[in-house]
Amino acid sequence: MSQAEAFDPTVYLNGEWGPLSEARIPVLDRGFIFGDGVYEVVPLYAQPDGTRLPFRLAQHLARLARSLGKIRIDNPFDDAGWRALIHRVIAENAGAGDALVYIQVTRGVAKRRGHAFPAGITPTVFVMLGHLVFPSAADRARGAVAVTAEDKRWLHCDIKSTSLLGNVLMSQHAVENDALETIQLRDGLLTEGSSSNVWIVKGGTLLGAPRGPRILEGIRYGLIEELSREAGIPFEERDITEAELRSADEIMISSATKEVMPITTLDGVQVGEGRPGAVYAALFEAYQRAKTREFEQASKRVI
Ligand code: PMP
Repeated sequence: MSQAEAFDPTVYLNGEWGPLSEARIPVLDRGFIFGDGVYEVVPLYAQPDGTRLPFRLAQHLARLARSLGKIRIDNPFDDAGWRALIHRVIAENAGAGDALVYIQVTRGVAKRRGHAFPAGITPTVFVMLGHLVFPSAADRARGAVAVTAEDKRWLHCDIKSTSLLGNVLMSQHAVENDALETIQLRDGLLTEGSSSNVWIVKGGTLLGAPRGPRILEGIRYGLIEELSREAGIPFEERDITEAELRSADEIMISSATKEVMPITTLDGVQVGEGRPGAVYAALFEAYQRAKTREFEQASKRVI
């Protein structure tokens, strides 16, 4: 059994703590039957003193609250409650290295199957620690391969819903084409990856697809906006056409697990010069500085 297979973290499920391998939900949980729930993935960075700290937690909790609000599930905790729970999950799973916290809230367990919301049920809350392996320096230096596909998902992509079938199929499409990510296009316009936001560079300007129902606004969306300002890179949030995508000087993706990652081949064609570009390099460096800054502030708060 590999180390990853042997990993059996202590998880939280509806007030109980226990090994992941023993956590159970009833089959009439709305998450199982309808994908009626939302989730979050918060990166945890290993600190020099052996602790792990969440990055941009306030923003993740705000997005979780927004997702819950949009599907009309009462938020089971306030921010202080979520923070306490997340810190307990970290404490229950002492270990070295970067990690992630996965949070899922579903509408709860119904008495019988029926599409509309059942009355009087309590949300199911599940929190676990997961492995997080960032792309290696060699992968970053090479850049990654992406393929494109038509975006066939629903028009509430702004909700971080566990109904992820469209994203699952797009991720599998990438795997079957030896690519890291599938970049989706809807009506000839760039939307996003299967599990990432997508950025292009045109004549020194960084472009991001508009926030709205066609994409999930990554926690890195606002961050990359901030980082581009810090690095003096002009940024525009606007529609990006397929032609602009295919003729971009640089393409990159962002997500909690990739931070920001250059795409150097798109549908078998070299992107720009075929290697990670200057804007990517500036944003990646600014990203590393932003982490250091946030963790320095966190250590000052604790003291
Ligand atoms: N879009 C989709 C569809 C995603 O699944 C993700 C990753 N959760 C993102 C964008 C990027 O979001 P974040 O920066 O919060 O990881």
